[in-house]
Amino acid sequence: MTDAIKRVGVMTSGGDAPGMNAALRAVVRSCEYYGIECVAIRGGYQGLIEEDLITMGARSVKNIINRGGTVIKTARSKEFRTEEGRVKAAKVLEKNKIDALVVIGGDGSFTGGLKLYEEHNIPFIGVPGTIDNDIFGTDFTIGYDTALNTALQCIDKIRDTATSHNRVFFVEVMGRDAGFIALNTGIASGAQDILIPEQKDSLESLFKSLEVSHKSGKTSSIVVVSEGEELGGVYDLAKATQEKFIDYDIRVTVLGHVQRGGDPSCADRVLASRLGVAAVEGLREGRNAVMAGIRSGKVVYTPIAEAIKKHNEIDLELIKIAEILAI
Ligand code: ATP
Repeated sequence: MTDAIKRVGVMTSGGDAPGMNAALRAVVRSCEYYGIECVAIRGGYQGLIEEDLITMGARSVKNIINRGGTVIKTARSKEFRTEEGRVKAAKVLEKNKIDALVVIGGDGSFTGGLKLYEEHNIPFIGVPGTIDNDIFGTDFTIGYDTALNTALQCIDKIRDTATSHNRVFFVEVMGRDAGFIALNTGIASGAQDILIPEQKDSLESLFKSLEVSHKSGKTSSIVVVSEGEELGGVYDLAKATQEKFIDYDIRVTVLGHVQRGGDPSCADRVLASRLGVAAVEGLREGRNAVMAGIRSGKVVYTPIAEAIKKHNEIDLELIKIAEILAI
């Protein structure tokens, strides 16, 4: 155990995710528990460069465990991507006697933290906060479970209207280059087809599936499309399908940013609480440039370089499940 860490800075960075507040609360309170001062950096790396800091205590994070978004704001900083920007950031940390950083964010934020460490020797631990679930070294990222449930509720509502009007709906969900949200909400919502970047899809197989389902007596269908899907955007897919089946009544819904908002689910709050505590405990144990994650139910620390380089693998067996059940 090291006493070298006396003052920790914590920030949320990159895209916001439900549960970031719960993670912030956990970092602030575990700092207090272990007698470490805690400073929140508002607005990610840009806030750091601009010295937008606020001293935190256990009561500063009351009533936020249940709130979506991030009360200390998040941002994307171009300036921090430059060496000069990081020199400014390091000077702010030195001036404010901040010994280490906890960065709650995605792989971009971790890359930034790693550079700051390599160039200025500032210890840091990453906490995976992104709805995309695309980070290696943790089974789940903070915000993913909530986003799944939000997307699922929306698709269920679309199903009601799809059924009433005998329509085919193409629904685009978030996930960037990863299909976790699409695959899981697709199965959970009983979608006819699920198109994800990890799987080579073809228009022909989509058409075939829709045709078979139509012939088998289905009067409406939902196709869940991941935003990173490589066959083209959801609108192009819908257009091509309409040209093939001119008598189908086809609609498109892009769920968009609604998936980022809302109160975090129980699973996300627990995950965020565990990882926030793990980050502070990791720093106390002298860990550095690692990401705190949970694998098979246990807290693990993965070197940031590995977390950035590798990708969380999607379970392609789930595609087979979806195929079997779409009969
Ligand atoms: P999400 O996955 O939700 O988008 P993220 O953390 O990957 O989250 P990014 O926008 O990629 O989001 O990164 C957040 C910030 O981290 C950037 O605005 C930038 O300040 C910093 N950052 C990202 N990549 C680098 C890099 N290569 N070098 C230095 N800083 C970086």
